[in-house]
Amino acid sequence: MEIFKEPIFRYFEQISKIPRESGNEKAISDYLVSFAKEKKLEVLQDEAMNVIIKKPGTKGYENAPTVIIQGHMDMVCDKNKSTDHDFGKDPIKLKVDGDMIYADNTTLGGDDGIAIAYALELLASDDIYHPPIEVLMTANEEVGMDGAIAVDPKNLTGNILINIDSEEEGRILVSCAGGITTKQTLPIVWDTLKGDGRHYDISIRGLKGGHSGSEINLGRGNSNILMGRVLKRLIDEVDISIASINGGQKVNAIPREADAQVFVKKAEKEKFLKLIDELNAILKLELRASDPDVMICAKESDEKLNKVFSKETARKAIYSLLLIPNGIQTMSMEIEGLVESSSNIGIVTTLDESIIFESAVRSSVKSLKKLILDKSKAAANLLGAGFEGVADYPEWQYEPDSKIRELFEKGYKEFYGEEPEIVAIHAGLECGLFKEKMPHLDMVSFGPNIYDAHTPNEHMSISSVKRTWEYFLSVLKKIK
Ligand SMILES: [Zn+2]
Repeated sequence: MEIFKEPIFRYFEQISKIPRESGNEKAISDYLVSFAKEKKLEVLQDEAMNVIIKKPGTKGYENAPTVIIQGHMDMVCDKNKSTDHDFGKDPIKLKVDGDMIYADNTTLGGDDGIAIAYALELLASDDIYHPPIEVLMTANEEVGMDGAIAVDPKNLTGNILINIDSEEEGRILVSCAGGITTKQTLPIVWDTLKGDGRHYDISIRGLKGGHSGSEINLGRGNSNILMGRVLKRLIDEVDISIASINGGQKVNAIPREADAQVFVKKAEKEKFLKLIDELNAILKLELRASDPDVMICAKESDEKLNKVFSKETARKAIYSLLLIPNGIQTMSMEIEGLVESSSNIGIVTTLDESIIFESAVRSSVKSLKKLILDKSKAAANLLGAGFEGVADYPEWQYEPDSKIRELFEKGYKEFYGEEPEIVAIHAGLECGLFKEKMPHLDMVSFGPNIYDAHTPNEHMSISSVKRTWEYFLSVLKKIK
């Protein structure tokens, strides 16, 4: 195909032939090393397979500030059932449809192959004006950001970092959230079941869910929280016992489903079912805009439970769901519409000895992340539950005074004749880790239009790749 003879796309085609699933980066990492050696450029490969390639500034730019140009070399590998593609050895098959490049029933790897292609084009060029550059391609971004974690700041001298891992032309990213997963462990005291009654399975269904960061502002119901509310009304008004509470599968997804097993005294059956109906009507009304299909079901169960939570344990479990911070906590006062801090009770699991509540906490302000952590811990302490915070990752806080952002903004106005969108995202990026290691860094993140990344429908706009490249070069030219 003709397009793959053109600049940028020729390198995109090259790297598409090299398997580069997260965790399997040796081949692509070695390819980058030999590319640099062939061009007689200084290159360094670390143990994590990260590659740094340095190229001096061009004529007139020898003494310009050094710019780190950064992307990740791994890609998410997902495919449709219809293909027997082997990501371990098969090249990604590229297809062109109008302005779009797709892969054949697999992810494309435009995220973040386009960063590699831009970088290689820049490294190979002898007719582009640019300051001294340090290309940093990290390994394993998509699963845990291990590459970025392993980067040794001693190997980099630049004070400016341009990350090419945003997927919307016209948007310049200037901040991202940090996060931590909290885990509250509530010990269970079991009671033996007494009295005449029936078992019911209560389920909450029909919610939309979504990403706990980027979609936390949509007001969608969290099944775990709703289950807490349902159980609160039930234990207050009906004589029931609870045997288990479970909900959600991923801590960073808004949970769509939750289940509880309860025991209802025989005399209370009518009252119980009437209250479930009432609660159904309440949730349907509250969530009519965000989750109109929400429903609570109570189904009689044949399963014979012989133990239930003690009254005390049941109350503490419900209090946990009422007290652990959930949903939007603060909004940014600098960037309109940006969620600054949030928390999401993603998973609730009943085990033999304890009930575990896991939440994804995010904030673009470190001290606010700490505040949410402290609130969660206070709830755990009051309830006599264990508490820990795991998988802590740093934020990239909005920098009111950023030279590189100004250059990108100014360059955008000149190139496109309109204002770019300056945005912050309520999710993690490698930039947060770099900012923590190298606090002096002045950073932006940008990129061309890539759609449906991380899915087999991933596609990338050819014209957007070309425009964004020209715009990028016009900005580099200004760094003198
Ligand atoms: Zn990416």
